[in-house]
Amino acid sequence: MPTQSRDSIKVVCRIRPENKLELDGAYRRCVQYTDKEINVECQADKTSNFHGNHDFTFDRIFGPDSLQKDVFMEIGYPIVQGVLGGFSGTIFAYGQTGSGKTFTMEGPDHHDEVMKGMIPRMFQCLFQLIEEADEQIEFTVKVSFLEIYMEKIMDLLNPKKSNLVVRKDKVNGVFVKDATEVYVNNADEMLDVMQAGSQNRSIAATRMNARSSRSHSLFMCTVFQKDTKNDSTKLGKLYCIDLAGSEKTEKTNATGQTLEEAKMINKSLSALGNVINALTDTKKNKHIPYRDSKLTQILQESIGGNSLTCLIITCSLSAYNDRETLSTLRFGNRAK
Ligand code: ADP
Ligand code: MG
Repeated sequence: MPTQSRDSIKVVCRIRPENKLELDGAYRRCVQYTDKEINVECQADKTSNFHGNHDFTFDRIFGPDSLQKDVFMEIGYPIVQGVLGGFSGTIFAYGQTGSGKTFTMEGPDHHDEVMKGMIPRMFQCLFQLIEEADEQIEFTVKVSFLEIYMEKIMDLLNPKKSNLVVRKDKVNGVFVKDATEVYVNNADEMLDVMQAGSQNRSIAATRMNARSSRSHSLFMCTVFQKDTKNDSTKLGKLYCIDLAGSEKTEKTNATGQTLEEAKMINKSLSALGNVINALTDTKKNKHIPYRDSKLTQILQESIGGNSLTCLIITCSLSAYNDRETLSTLRFGNRAK
């Protein structure tokens, strides 16, 4: 297990295949990559800081042909192991809308062996490891599913609960008061919970014009174990976070509500960036600005320190998205 925060934050990049719009528009590819290095060429105005060739190095680059299984084995599997060891594990997906965050975290079909994403695979793995564990250890697994929209915490498992608060006490550490917690006994039950929450999220989204791209979703799971031989206990926490789209507002010409949403997103994504950045700073006792957003308040005990954190940045290859891709890579770079 990691002992220093700067070792525990891993940043990986996943590049999605070109979509129809990009292929039909015959946009060129502006991204080149190897296993760990990526280059983006931006044909922006010479005076802008987007212009030119930019190189970045990450812990791993997953290309457009990468399989869900491979991403899980490299990122998800060690985190599940950590959670069963009594640690916290957190996975974020960050990128512009349409870059593959939900594809990576949930996958387009939870029941398809090839296409299912990180979260369903983590559930399966978790319960498999529990099954293989010492019979004398009792496990309790609970899940919650929340959404943060306009800095308000909503309960995706009970949409009537729409403005939850973050609390901290000695027994529970940091928690979201009154969030629905569902006890689950196997991976299928966990999937049902996730599906119910996702459905609530998309119902809200159609009502409010694709809100899901402007909210963060947080799937949280706690694994409590008690060894009946000696009464020792362990508590592991897992957070899987599909962040709001990171796109800048200029492209969408936002006004009114949309502009307010965009400002909130910028604020909370930069609060996350600042926290990760402060955690990776090698200076001791640096102030970590957790209080600046709801998301970082909830995660204050689950990023950095003794927890395993992975930031997956998702992007496109196409010149159509070159600036957004560069912004995404810059965010990932700051997090190292
Ligand atoms: P986001 O959640 O970032 O807005 P999505 O995950 O919904 O983006 O992806 C947008 C579209 O691209 C979806 O149709 C998705 O199936 C497809 N897609 C994304 N990533 C991949 C990938 N790695 N391989 C194949 N298709 C992908
Ligand atoms: Mg999405």
